[in-house]
Amino acid sequence: MTEKRHPLGIYIHIPFCIKKCAYCDFLSMQADKQVIDKYIVSLEKDIDKTVTADLLNQYEVNTVFIGGGTPSSLSEKQLQRLGYALQSIFQKMKVDRHGAEITMECNPGTLNNDKVKIMKEYGINRISLGLQSADNRELELLGRIHKYSDFVYCYELLRRHGFDNINVDVMSALPMQTIETYEKTLISVAQLNPEHISAYSLIVEEDTPFFERYSQDDMLRSSGKPPFFLPDEESERIMYEQTEEILNRYGYHRYEISNYAKKGYESVHNIGYWRGREYIGIGLGASSYICRHIVDVDNNNSCSIDSGRCTTVRRFNRTRDLNKYLTNDFGEYETENLDINMQMEEFMFLGLRMIEGVSINEFADRFGTDIYKIYSEPIARFERLGLLESASEGIIRLTKKGIDVSNYVFEGFLFS
Ligand code: SF4
Repeated sequence: MTEKRHPLGIYIHIPFCIKKCAYCDFLSMQADKQVIDKYIVSLEKDIDKTVTADLLNQYEVNTVFIGGGTPSSLSEKQLQRLGYALQSIFQKMKVDRHGAEITMECNPGTLNNDKVKIMKEYGINRISLGLQSADNRELELLGRIHKYSDFVYCYELLRRHGFDNINVDVMSALPMQTIETYEKTLISVAQLNPEHISAYSLIVEEDTPFFERYSQDDMLRSSGKPPFFLPDEESERIMYEQTEEILNRYGYHRYEISNYAKKGYESVHNIGYWRGREYIGIGLGASSYICRHIVDVDNNNSCSIDSGRCTTVRRFNRTRDLNKYLTNDFGEYETENLDINMQMEEFMFLGLRMIEGVSINEFADRFGTDIYKIYSEPIARFERLGLLESASEGIIRLTKKGIDVSNYVFEGFLFS
């Protein structure tokens, strides 16, 4: 066993939902019970084959995120099987699972007392609840299955069962949303006092029912008329600004562009993504990002991971074809070996999403070179523009102005 095991995140994908929402382009679908049962069997095999004792000799699983889709739409029996599979990971690791953050995504309208008991029993200790809006008309337009009262019911049920780390997802720039309804959503959620709130703006994706209506809005906008379906740009900007202002008032601090938490409740799993830590994805379409030597069965190269920096990272996905997955195809799809430049780019544009910024020392440790040797030009340029600042403790971070135009700044750190 290596002396110090590296942290590893595990993502488990449950691609099933009660009904497809009108804006959703995630890998999710409706399915009947038999299909879901079969999927769980494949998932168990995937976990068994992927999370091996060998892997766990080198890594310590510090987070598990069960996402979807809607994991809470599984039946009690299916959830129980998922719970056993989860337990098997920690048994192989021979450590107490209680040190790890284990999150499950839940949607209002899909939880009951028995399910919540099972989740607790199997060590889920963080919940991410997809509310999106406290306004029932907005929820209906989004195609969500729940009303605000269903969310409150779920939230209180989880609290009664002792869940003390809950995230609530809310969205802005929704169809027919006004500054006032968004404000009401933020205040209603903050008053419930969850530990974490994620606040994203709606992005209209192609091949969703929303896309066509959005295109009609676009035509209105370009002919100088106000859009009909989505809020105009000025309202969107006000909603964006309201988010931080209101959530600060309720004791949440912004630690990532779209994420707010009470002190000590930042999402460890998601911070892993932004900090470029390794993770393994299990389930349909799930993505992995891990040292190439670990996943290369034929590789004879030794890995420099013991020195604290393996620079041969690979990203790959599981198949997105459900039928293939159900025949236990756990192969690597869309494989990409990330060279040093790609890793540096990701280090910068993901790391700068964090409000505390990127560490100059961490860059040097990971890449064996000085950040200013590689990025002196964009750092100086964005500092001059007041979009980046070098904090005295060896940190480079976005300024408030930089956060507002973060995508523009991120582009400056791409090599091509
Ligand atoms: S519940 Fe989430 S994953 Fe499922 S369809 Fe709606 S947005 Fe997509």
